[in-house]
Amino acid sequence: MSHVQYVENPDVILIGSGVMSANLGVMLKLLEPRLSIQLYEVADGLAQESSDGWNNAGTGHAGICELSYTPTREADGSVKVAKAIEIFEQFEQSKQFWSYAVSSGLIDNPKEFINPVPHLSFVHGEAQVDFLRARYAGMKVHHFFREMEYSTERDTIALWAPLLIEGRGSVPIAATKMNGGTDVNFGALSRKLLKWFERQEGCGIARGHRVVGLRKVNSTWEVRAEYLAAGEVHTNRAKFVFVGAGGGSLPLLQTAGIPEARGLGGFPIGGQWLTCDNTEIVGRHQAKVYGQALDAAPTMAVPHLDTRILDGRRTLLFGPFAAWTTKFLHKKGRFTDLPFSVRSDNLLTLMKIGFSNLDLVRYLIQQGTQSMADRLKVLHVFYPAAKIDDWKLIDAGIRVQAIKKTDGRTGIVHYGTEVITDADHSISALLGASPGASVSVNIMFKVIKKCFPHLLASPHGRTQMKTMIPTYNEDIKLAANSERFYAAHQHADEILQLI
Ligand SMILES: Cc1cc2nc3c(=O)[nH]c(=O)nc-3n(C[C@H](O)[C@H](O)[C@H](O)COP(=O)(O)OP(=O)(O)OC[C@H]3O[C@@H](n4cnc5c(N)ncnc54)[C@H](O)[C@@H]3O)c2cc1C
Repeated sequence: MSHVQYVENPDVILIGSGVMSANLGVMLKLLEPRLSIQLYEVADGLAQESSDGWNNAGTGHAGICELSYTPTREADGSVKVAKAIEIFEQFEQSKQFWSYAVSSGLIDNPKEFINPVPHLSFVHGEAQVDFLRARYAGMKVHHFFREMEYSTERDTIALWAPLLIEGRGSVPIAATKMNGGTDVNFGALSRKLLKWFERQEGCGIARGHRVVGLRKVNSTWEVRAEYLAAGEVHTNRAKFVFVGAGGGSLPLLQTAGIPEARGLGGFPIGGQWLTCDNTEIVGRHQAKVYGQALDAAPTMAVPHLDTRILDGRRTLLFGPFAAWTTKFLHKKGRFTDLPFSVRSDNLLTLMKIGFSNLDLVRYLIQQGTQSMADRLKVLHVFYPAAKIDDWKLIDAGIRVQAIKKTDGRTGIVHYGTEVITDADHSISALLGASPGASVSVNIMFKVIKKCFPHLLASPHGRTQMKTMIPTYNEDIKLAANSERFYAAHQHADEILQLI
């Protein structure tokens, strides 16, 4: 395929080639084969930013192991698990769509992007053990988490994940384990989906094109993209634009000037991993192990010890550690991104955020100034016998946390994902990063529902939707129907070769 394919005056323009645009582009084309779609990507390669396998943790977020989705304890001591159930259901939709893509021959070899890896939650100390026991009791009764196991026994936990036990003292510990967890290479998945996309009639990808301007002219969007290799600006027009530019979405939204973007700000938090290539150690760990947040760490910075399957081999990542940055993108970002995003309409919110989140500010300063020995201390919480020589520090992706004004409050740092859509439903942009890629299919489905309702209403669209995501209809939630869940879950997992 050519490096640059132009589709003039398409129906849809997608900005960015990460997992969001990749899913959206393919879903739209399947729902309406006559749609013409242009995708612009600033990098020469596809999905090289947050979606790339090395830039995120690759956890198929399903609420199994992430304690941050079940933070609340009720007065009676029970733990609220509704959020975990919601994320699980959304990840099931992702698996349904990707398994459809495999079974219909749209993409191949699921092992290259998704693999089964048990998900563990691991805690230490009386209070945390008590919490995990209550969480387990709340989750185990739901059919989504029926397979979950719980133990406080060192011998049992050593069978699940031996590194957690080696060299550990006598402090009480507990863990839950579920074999149905996954490791996902979202970059590989995006590239597979886009390989199909760019072969379709009326679809084109222009790599090496940085979108620099978005302007509404009458009822269409004029998009200006700079072809970096040639130093030329390519101007195009479409009725609908999706800004899936990851960290680059906020500046583009600001350029678009829609009222819905007024007051929005972004705050970048860089990420770093410790990675281990010692095959003897890597071979003894086969799990994703999540713990409790340390100190004032934001939920998305809760460290975890992860088996990863990347580029056909197994490796071990620990982190993420936060890092200071003013860039909004890891590879194609500029140090001026943060200062240039400060506008008169968001300056006050940004300043107030700084003052009202001093814990977060202190946490970032502490993270940014820590040494390798400090990082090893954190790793020792999970793997007490870890030795510094087996680990090296690498960069992960950057998350630009959406900052917005809220009613009655001066502003909040929004850790979730936020889809901003204008009143005409002619432009949508995705901000934020969590739970992110895992629930990209659900997020993109919501964009389609809002901005392309006619596609879902047509006889072809309805049938196609049912074939792609059999349980997309919110009236038949898997969370409320165990039989339907088991059938759909088994089917998707078989095709994705997870069982
Ligand atoms: C450290 C870390 C760990 C994470 N862990 C997980 C996890 O375990 N599980 C999970 O589900 N999610 C995780 N996430 C979140 C997940 O990675 C993101 O939600 C997801 O990848 C976002 O996809 P995207 O398509 O929106 O953005 P991206 O993948 O960043 O893609 C945006 C694309 O837009 C391009 N672009 C930007 N600006 C322009 C422009 N002006 N013109 C043209 N192109 C442009 C970029 O080059 C890039 O290719 C993690 C994120 C980070 C940073």
